[in-house]
Amino acid sequence: MVVTPQTVVVIGAGISGLTSAYELRRKLGRGARIVVIEKAPTIGGKLKTVSSDRGPLEVGAEAYLAFRKDATEFFSRLGLGEQLVAPSALPSQLYVDGSLRSLPRNTIMGVPSGPEGLESILSPETLDRIAMESDPSISAGIHWVPGDDANVGQLVEARYGSEVVDRIVSPLLGGVYSSTAYDLGLRATIPQLAAAFDQMASAGEFVSLGGAVKKVLDERKRFQQARLGSESVHSKPHRPVVFQTFRDGFEVLYRTLAEESGAEIRLNTSAVALARTDTGFAVSLESSSESEGGVETIDADGVVLAAPAHVTGPLLADVAADASEIIGGVDAASSAVVAMCFDTSEGLPEINGVLCEAGADLSAKAFTISSRKWPHIAQRYPAVVRASFGRFDDDSHVHRTDEDLLARARQDLARATGFTAEPVATMVQRWWRGIPRFDVGHGQLMEFAQANIADVRGLAASGAWLSGPGIPECISNARAAADKVAGEIY
Ligand SMILES: Cc1cc2nc3c(=O)[nH]c(=O)nc-3n(C[C@H](O)[C@H](O)[C@H](O)COP(=O)(O)OP(=O)(O)OC[C@H]3O[C@@H](n4cnc5c(N)ncnc54)[C@H](O)[C@@H]3O)c2cc1C
Repeated sequence: MVVTPQTVVVIGAGISGLTSAYELRRKLGRGARIVVIEKAPTIGGKLKTVSSDRGPLEVGAEAYLAFRKDATEFFSRLGLGEQLVAPSALPSQLYVDGSLRSLPRNTIMGVPSGPEGLESILSPETLDRIAMESDPSISAGIHWVPGDDANVGQLVEARYGSEVVDRIVSPLLGGVYSSTAYDLGLRATIPQLAAAFDQMASAGEFVSLGGAVKKVLDERKRFQQARLGSESVHSKPHRPVVFQTFRDGFEVLYRTLAEESGAEIRLNTSAVALARTDTGFAVSLESSSESEGGVETIDADGVVLAAPAHVTGPLLADVAADASEIIGGVDAASSAVVAMCFDTSEGLPEINGVLCEAGADLSAKAFTISSRKWPHIAQRYPAVVRASFGRFDDDSHVHRTDEDLLARARQDLARATGFTAEPVATMVQRWWRGIPRFDVGHGQLMEFAQANIADVRGLAASGAWLSGPGIPECISNARAAADKVAGEIY
């Protein structure tokens, strides 16, 4: 009997698609045909390392959350453990009311438990309001039924006032989600806080924002103390590493995954339709390269969709209609990154970055001072700064010309930090619909969508839109997607 090797098509060569391709190879073995379809001329998606004469720089994602041990273990298994580097211990600052202020400690994504330490950022009226919020003799509690969700901005504004949202919470959340707090759901973006509300409501306690934040902070403190206690008495207690990155750029990650997957990677090729067949699926492709132009169909036993939501949704229309509608309805924020290299760091503040309050007198929403944040970058350049523009509610800056964006990046950097040096090299990268928006109820909708896809043998879908844009989350979802398909077609 001749056994026909399986064919699996992976749509999208970002971290999600490449991780799925790698895992599919591990599960299906050398005989399987794995084809990765990528619309762009390069692999990596939102991971994009660019070369310059002094070494690699990131113009997409710049680090991953090192608390996610599963991601670090995955990178080590790929032989990339030696590549991982940690940032400096310098703080970031907030740009509020025209000047830099210390970023408050002891908040959960910028949401404080009380007014202490916020005097330089908030007005006395707001400080009073925060102080009273968790006092049951003065305040009414939050009406919360376990499982509820809320709009982050509206919730924090209702309890503490809009100053807290605009000056602290939106800048912090915006750094991850490219949206203000008013465009984000609590359960998808600050799940610890939603869980604390659930616990308080289930226990019949008075539910307040300050009380829930305190509960999460206390839990975090207990966890850290337990970790310190378990460290050897001889070892020096070390600072927890929150983020890590790759010394030679994320490029080493996406190239390694592509190579190890042994997949056939079709660049400049878009998946344009997906249909069921008697034996599996038919994937229609359209090539944008002149030599290979035209439409082609690949027959596949399994398919992993790993493209952005606005692509994945429509592709699912004929195979999982409910999922198609739900995933296709996920919005996304566009943004632009302007990377600037300088041959001097004189006058550049000793901080890792700046987060700008919503409504600040700047076009940029944040700066990463990459050469202060990352010692390996400081070895290559005297100074590197990344300016970020654009949010879900405002992509006007992303439409500007490169020259305009660069001029604004320099002007805003000078205004926020006083650093006025002229860059010796610059790069502008736009990310249209780059980060999905995690709205109220997002998790529940995704559960419905995944349940619909689960019913289709040999089909899986994952990506930044599923449960979070962070690289570790994309990797674990992509591995699960590959597991499902491999398990069903093997
Ligand atoms: C500016 C920026 C900074 C970020 N910073 C961080 C960070 O520091 N840390 C962190 O953890 N995360 C960060 N993120 C988020 C993270 O980079 C992304 O969520 C993640 O890389 C998404 O990976 P993905 O594979 O799911 O999607 P993508 O990277 O979007 O990959 C999807 C791929 O599908 C391709 N595609 C689209 N349509 C088709 C089609 N029809 N056919 C075939 N292919 C198609 C696309 O070209 C793309 O290559 C950042 C994101 C951005 C935009």
